Amino acid sequence: MFEKILIANRGEIALRILRACRELGIRTVAVHSEADTEAKYVKLADESVCIGPAPSSASYLNIPAIISAAEVTDAEAIHPGYGFLSENADFAERVEKSGFTFIGPRPETIRLMGDKVSAKAAMKAAGVPCVPGSDGALPDDPKEIVRIARSVGYPVIIKAAGGGGGRGMRVVHTEAALINAVQTTKAEAQAAFNNPSVYMEKFLENPRHIEIQVLADSFKNAVWLGERDCSMQRRHQKVIEEAPAPNINRKLIQKIGDRCAEACRAINYRGAGTFEFLYENDEFYFIEMNTRVQVEHPVTEMTTGIDIVVQQIRVAAGEKLALRQKDIVPKGHAIECRINAEDPYKFTPCPGRIETYHPPGGPGIRVDSHVYQGYTVPSNYDSMIGKVIAYGDTREQAMRRMSIALSEMIVGGIKSNIALHQELMHDARFLAGGTSIHYLEHKLAAREEVNKAK
Ligand code: ADP
Repeated sequence: MFEKILIANRGEIALRILRACRELGIRTVAVHSEADTEAKYVKLADESVCIGPAPSSASYLNIPAIISAAEVTDAEAIHPGYGFLSENADFAERVEKSGFTFIGPRPETIRLMGDKVSAKAAMKAAGVPCVPGSDGALPDDPKEIVRIARSVGYPVIIKAAGGGGGRGMRVVHTEAALINAVQTTKAEAQAAFNNPSVYMEKFLENPRHIEIQVLADSFKNAVWLGERDCSMQRRHQKVIEEAPAPNINRKLIQKIGDRCAEACRAINYRGAGTFEFLYENDEFYFIEMNTRVQVEHPVTEMTTGIDIVVQQIRVAAGEKLALRQKDIVPKGHAIECRINAEDPYKFTPCPGRIETYHPPGGPGIRVDSHVYQGYTVPSNYDSMIGKVIAYGDTREQAMRRMSIALSEMIVGGIKSNIALHQELMHDARFLAGGTSIHYLEHKLAAREEVNKAK
């Protein structure tokens, strides 16, 4: 096992990784920007290194500074968390070439799955069902593009091969709008991802977002840890996640989960990962794979009792997976609310000093957060300040516990989205289970209309 790990991230996930390291008896190095000097995990870490000024381009994305920090502290491995450099194949390669272990998949796997066109091709070959669409990247010939769209059938969605974070996508409803949309998406993709390649998919009108968590070691052992439903989204960003997914035939999920574990073996996958699917009319359609730990991993940890971050570290250290598929039997229900420093209905970020802070507690409640009373949320990074996770024997119990937890929670001095979460915990359609990825946006739009009429 490693003796020392460098955590190349910030916020709640840095604290989460630090806790896993402590449990394994591993010493930690926290790297941080000038804006995060006062962060809790920086103080809790055995060592800390300031790697640059506040903007992430100069600190959390600064590859030479992170590698140097690992060198001067004698760290053996680097955990990238999520976001920042976690899915950057060049970073993973640099880490390994400098003699450190990258806690994640091999650089070539990150590269393969990071390009959505090559990822889809690999998944198709591994027998994972994909959204119908173009066979690879779209050609330049407009006539050919029109022909492909006709055969896929409108509406279609044009997606950037290098896209991520819900950016680089455009829905097209008519042939008249097609060529223009392809050209605009291409230009945007070039500017944002330095890769003009785009592809086409059938636009699914009312799907749910269901994902499968996997774990694999370097010896072609792979298991899946159940599914998560992350359909409660705004602007393609997840707001609430839960496990298991309500109202889906277990046999269907079993089948897709087994396929994902098989696909891991086929592509020689190593570490934790997530296969993301859209689900509509009893069918699963692969959209992309995340080759890292995800924000929503705790709901799976609560239902399986498996510590995903500990497993990531064990596998990276060269251990064989001790888990067998037959032993993984998810139990109960877990739900996670992402708590953001933002206006609950206008969604404008609201960084600043947290004057009062009372996290919730009680049976089945877990809070993953790095904040404390007197902590200042910096304006340089995303607005998530933590996650509340509620576990119960049933979905109803988990939701009830979440509602109680939210009512106890106080984040004063800045705005937060707790009120929106509280409202959703009492939303009849959400309580019934199975709402689509458009549900939240429609609900917010309807709310807006009512407010205008007042
Ligand atoms: P990103 O990497 O940017 O998150 P994804 O491919 O995972 O991109 O898609 C993000 C979201 O966009 C999905 O969760 C879904 O809401 C929507 N989306 C993507 N592809 C389709 C599709 N073919 N039909 C309908 N919605 C889609």
